[in-house]
Amino acid sequence: MSIVLNEYEWAERMINNHDLGKRPVETLNRVAKYYLATGYSKREVRRMLDTFLIQCDPSASLPSWSDMLDKIAKNVDKYPIIRVDGIDVTVKEMETIEKLDGKQLRRLAFTLLCVAKYWDAVSERNDHWANTSDREIMQMANISTSIKRQSALFAELKNADMVRFSKKIDNLNVKVVFMEEGEAALHIHDFRNLGYQYLKYYGAPYFECENCGLTVKIQEPARGRRQKYCPSCAIEVKTRQNVNAVMRRRNALRCAAQI
Ligand SMILES: [Zn+2]
Repeated sequence: MSIVLNEYEWAERMINNHDLGKRPVETLNRVAKYYLATGYSKREVRRMLDTFLIQCDPSASLPSWSDMLDKIAKNVDKYPIIRVDGIDVTVKEMETIEKLDGKQLRRLAFTLLCVAKYWDAVSERNDHWANTSDREIMQMANISTSIKRQSALFAELKNADMVRFSKKIDNLNVKVVFMEEGEAALHIHDFRNLGYQYLKYYGAPYFECENCGLTVKIQEPARGRRQKYCPSCAIEVKTRQNVNAVMRRRNALRCAAQI
């Protein structure tokens, strides 16, 4: 499961936009939890999943989705809906990360810390484990490298006594052992592009999109104006502005014709 801090708001947006997202099963799981949290019974949730699926994709085949939706509705009360507003990283923790030798290594340590804090916030019994796949961790840390290099990075963090690995063979999770309470250095409220957020904190040219909150690199050359949106939101906003301009022109012409 990818990390979403506020599943309640997230599911509400997907329902309003009739959007299945990039991972339909994850979306359906969260939408089911949302319906349950808003007071519907399991039986009602199951029926509403059919409706939501058809709203998102009118060509979807309900019989072929049936088993999956049954399973989602059956397990909907297994885990409560997540509503976390964010996590804090302390000055001391940032100082510990700074001591590491290597840019990727620092980004990985920062990301693992944030992910472990997220799981701590979600489950009281978590005890600083980062229960997220390596692939997703690397993506969040904005590190693109070989599996061999990834293993080397994890081994370096272990040697620096910053993480510990699970002793169980079937558990590949990592435990973060450098958490330290104290004054907050930064508040993380979006778990996408944590690596970029780390770089931004140290003054690298990154900014937060005003529309979707994603942290992205400032595009060069800056054409005099401060960039407000990430590339995909920029396209969306531009399209909306063009549509509005056309509507305004049409209305102006209509008014002129009436005079
Ligand atoms: Zn955006």
